[in-house]
Amino acid sequence: STVTPLLELRDLDVAYGGIRAVRGLNLTVNRGELVCLIGANGAGKSTTLRAICGLVPRAGGDILYDGRSIAGVPSYLLVREGLVMVPEGRGIFGQLTIEENLAMGAYSRRDIEQIRRDTEHVLEIFPRLRERLKQSAGTLSGGEQQMLAMGRAMISRPRLLLLDEPSMGLAPIMVDKIFEVIETISNEGVTILLIEQNAKLALEASNRGYVMESGRMILDGPSQQLLDDPKVRAAYLGEE
Ligand code: ATP
Repeated sequence: STVTPLLELRDLDVAYGGIRAVRGLNLTVNRGELVCLIGANGAGKSTTLRAICGLVPRAGGDILYDGRSIAGVPSYLLVREGLVMVPEGRGIFGQLTIEENLAMGAYSRRDIEQIRRDTEHVLEIFPRLRERLKQSAGTLSGGEQQMLAMGRAMISRPRLLLLDEPSMGLAPIMVDKIFEVIETISNEGVTILLIEQNAKLALEASNRGYVMESGRMILDGPSQQLLDDPKVRAAYLGEE
C-alpha cells in the first residue's frame, strides 16, 4: 500500500544486558486500527512497548512513527507527537486528586478551552471519575485507577495509544467495562496498540493481532482468523 503505517517495527531487537528479550520483531499499525499483541508471561510484550516509547534502548532494527525513525527519541518528546502509553501498573499519582491527575494529561497543551471540552468528554465516558474528582487517586480501586490512567492519556490527545495489559488485576466486570471503553476510544478514531495476556478479549476487541513467543513474532493476522486458529486456541485460549 502507498499509505504509510502510523507505527512500524522493523527487525526490532531489544536486550537487557546480555539477554535478548525481543528478537527481529516486525509489526505495523495502520491509522485507525486497533491491533493487539498477545503472548504468554515473559514473551517480550511489555519490552516491545517500552522500546516503542523510548523507555528502553533498542539493540537493533528500527522503529518508525508516521514514517520517521523515532529510535532514541525520549518519551516526553514522543508524547508531544501523540504517542502515548498507559503503562502496566498505570503510573498515576496517588497523592494527587483525580482532577489533578487528569490535568497532568494536558501538561504539554495550551488550548485551555479544548482541554476543558476533552476533560468533559472523558468524564462522560467515565462517570465514576466525575463522582470522585477531589478524591486522592491512591484511594481508587484498581479498575478506577485504570480508568483514570486511560482518561489522562486521552486528554493528551493521542494519535497512537499504547495500552499495556489494561485488564491486569481487575475483576471481570471491570475488565468488561475497560474493554467497552477501549472500543469506544477506537471508534472515535484513535489508533491503538493493545498488549494483553487475556488473548480472547484482546482478539475479540481488535482488528488484527500479533502473537509473540520467547521474544519472537510467531503468528499474525486478522483477529477473527487468529481466534479460529487451532494453534492459538490450544496455546492461548485454553482449549483442546
Ligand atoms: P508479562 O506479561 O509477564 O509482563 P511480557 O511478555 O510483557 O510478560 P517482558 O516483561 O517484556 O514480557 O519480559 C521479556 C523478558 O525480558 C523476560 O524474560 C523478562 O525477564 C526480561 N526482562 C524484562 N525486563 C527486564 C529488565 N529490566 N532487566 C532484565 N530482564 C528483563
